[in-house]
Amino acid sequence: MDTQEMLEKAQSVFVDLYPLQDIVLDRGEGCCLFDTDGKRYLDFAAGIAVASLGHAHPVFIKAVEEQIRCFTTCPGTYMTSPRLACGEFLIEHSAFDRVFLCNSGTEAVEAAFKLARKWAYETKGPDCHEVIAFHNGFHGRSMGAASLTYKRDNQPFLGPYVPGINFADFNDLASVEALVTDKTAAIIIEPVQGEGGVWIAAPAFLKALRTLCDEKNIALIFDEIQCGAGRCGTAFAYEQYGVIPDIITLAKGMGGGFPVGAMLAKGDFASHFGHGTHGTTYGGNPLAANVALAVMETVWQPAFLKNVRETGAYLMDQLDGLRHDFPALGAIRGKGLLVGVDMNIPVSPFLKALLQNGVMALSAGENTLRLAPPLIAGRAEVDEAIEILKKTLEETA
Ligand code: PLP
Repeated sequence: MDTQEMLEKAQSVFVDLYPLQDIVLDRGEGCCLFDTDGKRYLDFAAGIAVASLGHAHPVFIKAVEEQIRCFTTCPGTYMTSPRLACGEFLIEHSAFDRVFLCNSGTEAVEAAFKLARKWAYETKGPDCHEVIAFHNGFHGRSMGAASLTYKRDNQPFLGPYVPGINFADFNDLASVEALVTDKTAAIIIEPVQGEGGVWIAAPAFLKALRTLCDEKNIALIFDEIQCGAGRCGTAFAYEQYGVIPDIITLAKGMGGGFPVGAMLAKGDFASHFGHGTHGTTYGGNPLAANVALAVMETVWQPAFLKNVRETGAYLMDQLDGLRHDFPALGAIRGKGLLVGVDMNIPVSPFLKALLQNGVMALSAGENTLRLAPPLIAGRAEVDEAIEILKKTLEETA
């Protein structure tokens, strides 16, 4: 089947949830993907900030191979070495006391949401169920996570959503304070909003949220599914703010392409989950745990994270250089290798042109170009991407 035939076939097979690109991907290597015609693309999407080690990395392959030959599943009531090692790694390298392993970001958010509600029910009272989330925030697609996601305003057909959720303005403390009531159980925030347009929380804002939560006895949840696991240049984004939440969610880059997620919590909160309160069939399975552990052991290395910070700074610098020649590029925001560029031209056709020229990238928010290469990317990959960006901007102009 050629590319066109495969794409036509796909349209008759799948529920039509994605506007498909007009290529079919075949294989990957490092920071590149190749289509079925053998054309090479520099991958500055990384599966939406997922492929931290790029594609077909030897560490990833070894971790899959070693565990797949052994065994891959068992009920959650049985402990395994990979699950224990993965959980211990997360606890030893974070400010949290307990971990729940799951399979995706949405599931991690769902666990955090349920844990915060149960904690509030049991410590503050059964009426205390409200949650404050943020405009432009994204937390996933299950009914709970979708209810916390600002985009729900465009999807009234899924309602009624989970009640008691209100949206404040990002980086605006007064708008949060105005929503706090005696019934507030939790505040959930992405330290760097990914899907919403790469918006970076101000340090003073996150510090003020921590103080507010302490004063009012509210659970503070950081959703680091996109911005954590090394993406912003530190293992967790919260490290850069000196603010420790009560509950945190991770996924995406933590598995480097293997489906995995995690919710971590401080002991006072985690103790409110007991036998049968929550669970998962696949979460923490030995295969996923072994791969996540191998990916995290690689990414969490100081030299690896330094490269993320330096390459990210270099990327922002090069983009800034381009901005002077191309008015199509607007404001640039980023942390580590999560970078957004506001576009003064429509971003969707620009992304198509970029893909044609050999770079895969993403959009975010209203009209922002989002660049999230594998965390192994260095100056060579940035230089190549910038050249292709420049060429595409010249063609577009
Ligand atoms: N939270 C954030 C901040 C995300 O960026 C995403 C996915 O983009 C999710 C939650 C949902 O994760 P998943 O798609 O793995 O369910």
